[in-house]
Amino acid sequence: MSATPMLELKGLKKAYRGKRALRGLDLTVNDNEIFALLGPTGAGKSSTLLASAGLIDLDAGSVNLGGRDVTEADPASRDVAIVFEGFNLLPVLNVQDNIAFALRSPAYREAEDEIGRRVGHTAELLRISHLLTRDVGTLSGGERQRVAIARALVRRPQIFLLDEPLSALDLKLREGLRAELRQIHRQHHSTMLYATHDYHGAIAIADRIGIIDGGQIQQAGTIDDIYDLPANMIVGKLVGSPAMAFLDADIDGEEVIIKGSAQRLPLTGFGRIARSEGPILLGVWPEDIEIEAADAVGGSRGTIYAVDNRGFERAVQVETPAGFFRKVVPLSMPLEQGDACSFRLPSGAGFLFEAETGRRISHQDGRDA
Ligand code: ADP
Ligand code: MG
Repeated sequence: MSATPMLELKGLKKAYRGKRALRGLDLTVNDNEIFALLGPTGAGKSSTLLASAGLIDLDAGSVNLGGRDVTEADPASRDVAIVFEGFNLLPVLNVQDNIAFALRSPAYREAEDEIGRRVGHTAELLRISHLLTRDVGTLSGGERQRVAIARALVRRPQIFLLDEPLSALDLKLREGLRAELRQIHRQHHSTMLYATHDYHGAIAIADRIGIIDGGQIQQAGTIDDIYDLPANMIVGKLVGSPAMAFLDADIDGEEVIIKGSAQRLPLTGFGRIARSEGPILLGVWPEDIEIEAADAVGGSRGTIYAVDNRGFERAVQVETPAGFFRKVVPLSMPLEQGDACSFRLPSGAGFLFEAETGRRISHQDGRDA
C-alpha cells in the first residue's frame, strides 16, 4: 500500500477558555481517500476541521497540507473547501450564483464558460439542476443543504472538510447524497475528511475511519482493522450496531470466567495477555455471541430485557449477571421480552480490557503492530 499523506495533523492542542477540546491530536488523511472522523458530540470533530482550515488558533501542534506546513498560513491561502452543518448560503444570490461564488473569487477566477459547465455538472450530481434559478430563501432545508454541498464540491481543492454535512437531512436524502459524494470522489479523485457521529454513515462512505473522543484519535484504520483489534473500550463503545458488548469477568489462572456464568474460556484464546489475575471486562462484538432460546448446557444465562423490531430483523437487549448486551437476531428466532435465554462465546472471540483504564490487555502480539 503506497499512500501519500494529504493532510497531516500532529500534536494538535486547543482549549476554549481553559476547557480542553483537542489534547494532542494526531491524524493523517491520505491523498485520494475518504476519511471519516467518527465520534460523539463534544469529541473534537469540528475543532479538528476548523484547525485544518486555519479557522481557529491552535495552542500547539502542526498542520501540513499537501506537503506544505500551513500551521501559520491564513485560511484563504489553504486550498481547502468546507461544508459545515447549517452552512449559511448567500441570501442575495440565486442558487446558481451561490454555487459559482467561490469559482469567481479572485483566488480562482475561472472562465465563465468553465464555471457554467462545472456548476451544471455539480448541480446534476446533487440533483438540484431544477433549482438553479431559484432564490435560496425559497428552498427547503434539504435543498439548501444540497446547495451548500454543491458550493464546496464545485471546487477542486486539495481536501474537502465536511462537518456533519448530511446529519440535518432525512434518511432517504442522506443515503442519496452519500452515494453522490462517493461518486464525486470517484470521478475527481478528491480527498475528503468527513466528520460524523453516525456509525452507519461513516462506514458507508469511508475508506478509513478515525475514532475520536476526548480530543484525541483513539484509533484509525479500515473498519476491518478496527474490528480485528479495537484499541480500547472507547472504540468498542463507538463502533458496531449494536456496539461492543462488555461483560464483567475474572481472570482465574488459565481461564476467563464470565460473572455468574458456567462458561469458562481458556485464557490462551486471547493471545498474549498484559495482566494475569483479577477483574476485567470481556468485550465481544455482538455478532460473535451465540444466543439460543433454551438453556443450553455450558452456556451462560440471560433474560430478554427488551426487543426492538427493525422490520426485517430484531435487536434484543439481554440482561445477564455480567451486564447487559444488545444483539441483532433473525425474525425467526422465538425470543420475547421476559424470556430466559442462553448465550455462549466461541473460543477465541472477544478481547480483555482493564476496567479502570479501558485499555486492551489481550492480544498483545503480532496483530498489535
Ligand atoms: P464535536 O464537533 O465533536 O461535537 P467540537 O470540536 O465542536 O466537538 O467541541 C469540542 C469541545 O470543545 C466541546 O466540549 C465543546 O463544547 C468545546 N467547544 C467547541 N467550540 C467552542 C467554543 N467556541 N467555545 C467554547 N467551547 C467550545
Ligand atoms: Mg461538531
